[in-house]
Amino acid sequence: MTARRDNKPRRREPAFCKDQFTKISFFWGSVAFHLSYFISREFVFCYGHRLLNHGGKCARLHGHNGRLILTLRSDTLDGQGMVLDFAELKNAIDDWIQRTIDHTMVLHQDDSLVPVLQEQGEPLFLMDGNPTAENFARLFFKLADSMNYPVCRVQFWETEKCCAEYHEEWE
Ligand SMILES: [Zn+2]
Repeated sequence: MTARRDNKPRRREPAFCKDQFTKISFFWGSVAFHLSYFISREFVFCYGHRLLNHGGKCARLHGHNGRLILTLRSDTLDGQGMVLDFAELKNAIDDWIQRTIDHTMVLHQDDSLVPVLQEQGEPLFLMDGNPTAENFARLFFKLADSMNYPVCRVQFWETEKCCAEYHEEWE
């Protein structure tokens, strides 16, 4: 950059470049910003749980209306101008929820209730850690990732006021 007489740095104009027709990068000097699209879909389901090694009320069996907000990110849009059709995301994730975890007891795999409830024929979903909001958020991130959706963030609301969030570095 050439120094100006007044010694103030020259204002660098932003420059856009279009990669592969649709991916847009934004450069400000040597700093590059990637422009992305985000879409989110909400899912609601009921579950029961309790936490091991916990000193509070959540050590008791109880239930929640869990609310999941799953966010996908893409630098490009498909031929319809979408990151993904909301209906496809709904069908895939909601189908898994209904088949696997809705109205189900979610327990730590080491919970002493597991063999008791199995003997009673109760449907269970077991985690290798406590069924906390944090572990639900991670579970749904991994689920969407395993379905090859470009998931970037998951929020899991255990109650109206308590939310855990999970995301992984994109690059
Ligand atoms: Zn709870």
